[in-house]
Amino acid sequence: ATPAATMVGTTLGAQNGVLFKGGDVLERAKDVDTVVFDKTGTLTKGEMELTDVEVFDGGADAHQTDGAGDRGEPAPDGGQLSERERLDEDDVLRLAASAESGSEHPLARAIVDGAEDRGVDVTDPDEFENVPGHGVKATVNGDAVLVGNRKLLRDNGIDPAPAEETMERLESEGKTAMLVARVPAGADEGELVGVVADADTVKESAKDAVSQLRKRGVDVMMITGDNERTAHAVAEQVGIDPENVRAQVLPEDKSDAVEAIQDSGEGPDGGRKAMMVGDGVNDAPALAVASVGTAIGSGTDVAIEAADVTLMRDDPVDVVKAIRISEATLAKIK
Ligand code: ADP
Ligand code: MG
Repeated sequence: ATPAATMVGTTLGAQNGVLFKGGDVLERAKDVDTVVFDKTGTLTKGEMELTDVEVFDGGADAHQTDGAGDRGEPAPDGGQLSERERLDEDDVLRLAASAESGSEHPLARAIVDGAEDRGVDVTDPDEFENVPGHGVKATVNGDAVLVGNRKLLRDNGIDPAPAEETMERLESEGKTAMLVARVPAGADEGELVGVVADADTVKESAKDAVSQLRKRGVDVMMITGDNERTAHAVAEQVGIDPENVRAQVLPEDKSDAVEAIQDSGEGPDGGRKAMMVGDGVNDAPALAVASVGTAIGSGTDVAIEAADVTLMRDDPVDVVKAIRISEATLAKIK
């Protein structure tokens, strides 16, 4: 880009809440043929809310009618009572929220806030460990508590299968469902105790952004650490094709996934020119490898630093503006 074109483009961008870091960026934005959106905080508001708390006790589904080991009280759901005390919803929520109170993750914040709203006591965990892309492990009142996805439980020797039906129902509603498990102090085996779910809302303009990009002939994709079912439910809401969804991508694998997308092109000069749009620390490496990295203005500083473009209004439709501005200014002043 000539200095004049760069000036016009960056000024026009700034007036529209689209900050370009220089002329090279404008040049590359013009050639973008694929836009890859992060899901949480980018297509969705990233304002999670706790929506569901479900109790599972000691694999209730596995032995419905066998009363052995219970204390004589029939469980309302026909499940077997635990050898220990029977947990109710508030107990499950108390365990989950206490474990999550060590985490800054939006999923965790929603669980803690939800517990507080319901008047459930949240205690600080004695020990806390973040398992990126999977969940948290904490010690709460002496018991080990796990909150996270299926893999987190499996990796800790706990079978998530009894909750599968519940998980799938919540996920097909677009919610992020998380398993809650406990290893009581002194016990060597953990048990699944419940499921909690958070829901996020899709941004009003997300669907519009996707349809405008598609009209311009730009391929639209989504990448997320969230599970397949939730990812597809959100993709459907915003109009992204199922085959363009990359789900369960670990934070450290997001940049590889974007590189794979860029390498997958069939165009004359091989690869695709991808714009990655994201907000989180997790997205920074992917923003850096993309032909154009675009950060959501309210996102983390790390993402903004790694990006070439920042959207000040947090609005996915401004992705279309970024591309239009680069096309318009560079086409005119060549
Ligand atoms: P995203 O890419 O959507 O920001 P992450 O990579 O942070 O997602 O997390 C991927 C998945 O790991 C989540 O959908 C959730 O199942 C699980 N997970 C991550 N952090 C937590 C947490 N603090 N508590 C429970 N589950 C978590
Ligand atoms: Mg995000």
